[in-house]
Amino acid sequence: MPHPVCFSFDIEDWFHPELVRDRVAPSEARSIVREGTEAILDLLRARNARATFFVLGEVAARHPDLVRRIAFEGHEIACHGMTHRPLWRLTPESFRQELRDFRAAVRGALGADPSIGFRAPTFSLDRTTAWALGVLSEEGFRYDSSVFPLRVRLYGVDGAPLGIYRPASDDLTRHDAAGPIVEFPVAVASLGPLRLPVAGGFYLRALPLGLLCGAIERIRRDRPPALYLHPWECVPSLPRLALPPADAFVTYLNLGSVLRKLGRIVDRFASVPMREALERLGHLAPAA
Ligand SMILES: [Zn+2]
Repeated sequence: MPHPVCFSFDIEDWFHPELVRDRVAPSEARSIVREGTEAILDLLRARNARATFFVLGEVAARHPDLVRRIAFEGHEIACHGMTHRPLWRLTPESFRQELRDFRAAVRGALGADPSIGFRAPTFSLDRTTAWALGVLSEEGFRYDSSVFPLRVRLYGVDGAPLGIYRPASDDLTRHDAAGPIVEFPVAVASLGPLRLPVAGGFYLRALPLGLLCGAIERIRRDRPPALYLHPWECVPSLPRLALPPADAFVTYLNLGSVLRKLGRIVDRFASVPMREALERLGHLAPAA
């Protein structure tokens, strides 16, 4: 049986990503996180599909009702940090504080914090920040989905496995059955010697739907493809900044196509939360 996909959504505002955040004054930061997240939730609800929501703590603190709706509709709540600072700018101590602040914000919204999954802002888990895995484990997290197993402009880990594994403490790219954290890398297709990112965000917006679905179909014979999008990608009226041309291309390409592509992919392949897929496959013990 082919696997379902695991769609995930990094619940942050349009001014959080690295290419944008230093160019936005807080006074002009109109929030669109609610509009984008509600569009995603409506689409999933209409299809009976469930997914993982890596929520930013700042968003959970400001929009507790949104967190409650995500959980109430059967989706998985997971952690995208507190402030969206990448791991490159954190120390083990400040990262631990981010995780604790996130948990406090989710407890404020839900009364409890069920999160065991983490995704680093800007896929910033790489060979230089692998110390984060130990902190995650100590803070009660059990899986991570931050490895982008291909080096691209801003991030990525060349040589990392494409499938689910447990990173060794001394080498993020090596499987060690005793590793404390399960890694669920985002989907990268292999075409002979080539690796092609198909997981989401810019790549999902840029690639034609037929090519995307073909790549997803191949990956899911072997493992559940981990896909991702952001709420700001689902709001075509996103505030536009005068970014350098390459950054504008990556940030604004094909925003109008995202909800349609998301709907078509979920219609064709179904979607389950990452935690559930990891439990079904025996990578995580089921919740008690
Ligand atoms: Zn993010």
